[in-house]
Amino acid sequence: MARRVLVASIKHETNTFSRVPADVAAFEARYCYRGEAIPRQMRGTKVEMAAFFDAAERHGWHLTYPIATSATPSGKVTRAAYDTFAAEIFRALDDEAPFDAILLALHGAMVLEDEEDGEGLLLQQVRDKVGAALPIGVSLDLHANVTDRMAALADVMISYRTYPHIDQYEIAAQVAELIRRTMAREIRPRVVVARRAMLDGADHGRTTAPGPMTETLALADRLLAEQPGLLAASINGGFPWADIHDVGPTAVVVADGEAPAEAAAETLIDEIWRQRHLSTIETVEVATAIEVVREAAGDDGPVVIADFADNPGGGGYGDATGLLGGMIEAGLEDAAFATICDPEAAAACHAAGVGASLSLALGGKIEARYGAPIQLTGTVQGIADGSFQMEGPMAKGTAIDMGPTAVLRVGGIDIVVNSNRHQVLDRGYFRHVGIEPETKAVLAVKSAHHFRAAFAPMAARVVVVDEGGGLTSRNYKTLPYEKARRPVFPLDLD
Ligand SMILES: [Zn+2]
Repeated sequence: MARRVLVASIKHETNTFSRVPADVAAFEARYCYRGEAIPRQMRGTKVEMAAFFDAAERHGWHLTYPIATSATPSGKVTRAAYDTFAAEIFRALDDEAPFDAILLALHGAMVLEDEEDGEGLLLQQVRDKVGAALPIGVSLDLHANVTDRMAALADVMISYRTYPHIDQYEIAAQVAELIRRTMAREIRPRVVVARRAMLDGADHGRTTAPGPMTETLALADRLLAEQPGLLAASINGGFPWADIHDVGPTAVVVADGEAPAEAAAETLIDEIWRQRHLSTIETVEVATAIEVVREAAGDDGPVVIADFADNPGGGGYGDATGLLGGMIEAGLEDAAFATICDPEAAAACHAAGVGASLSLALGGKIEARYGAPIQLTGTVQGIADGSFQMEGPMAKGTAIDMGPTAVLRVGGIDIVVNSNRHQVLDRGYFRHVGIEPETKAVLAVKSAHHFRAAFAPMAARVVVVDEGGGLTSRNYKTLPYEKARRPVFPLDLD
């Protein structure tokens, strides 16, 4: 008889310092697929749910798929949103019982307004329904903050091994395969997690250059090859902008029966701790970035400046004004900045029309702590509806909707003002409002790392700015941690 498997996905990366909640509307704004819409939207792509569907087809499983949803990283998930989506999984578990296994594609850094460990709660509630024996497999982002409860409640748990994340499908396929073997009683997996007193580590998971992450992954592969019974090993860089007790990097090992998972996890986390000071990313202050622009005069190709500290892809508001203010003050010429998220200012530009001159307060409106609004006068150079298709290479073809968008020219800087928060990881964010990024001397983008795929190939130089002006700063001492366990590196320990 066909195995009966439930697959579902609820994903959020929660920046607890953000005041913007992830409510039902925020999930619907990113994506929220139910029932047949899930295979229709996700089969044939390179995401986790596609891998679960392909595994089911390969092995003849009878699949139940109630929900697949995600919201852009932001503040805490509302209890109403969590309960809405979790209840759809619970209802399917009740209505379609019995099941032989459950596969979940989660992020691993979800925080609810009244619960630090969102994924742990979900797994607990699922276990309460199905009992301790039913195999549960989980895929995670490598920016997960894995708790002991999460590890104890899952039979298989594996994280991405790439950042930028390009192996979501492959990791989910591996989870499905280990759960298939579990159902067949070939293995009896268990999950072990190890952590140290650290907020951030493993080079934040970066695999674009040799460094702590790639070296620790190589060590994991050696352990897997040498020790029979070890089934999978994950290195999680953690998500440091979640102020919870168990924030930080982890090593997660899946082992068959009594195989030495604890020793392997300890070896891996020791390596992460040993390399804690090593980073492949150098960040500078705004003034240094301006100096680099001056030095680069005459270079072939733009200087690309990344606003690391206010990355909407990590929960930043996308309206912090520190870098933009510095660029205006320096009087940079032939520059473009994408984006400042300010729906009010975008609407004012739309109302004024192309060619109009107007004075307004731009950005810094959600929380002035990260840069107050800038009072400025500019000319509206262009307006657009904010929708376009990504040029790639990352997420090529994906539809983007930034809401009403405008270009405001202030001095020599074209500022793209948008209405929905987005990380600027594609040239389309400039091009769809009439800016040809290749022709500019300076391009500034709200992004930490993903921007490199599209912008590094044409850049004369890349500069990453972080002087603490945002919710995704690596200057952690500028953020008001209260719940993270202390002492912890790098807040208290060196
Ligand atoms: Zn991630």
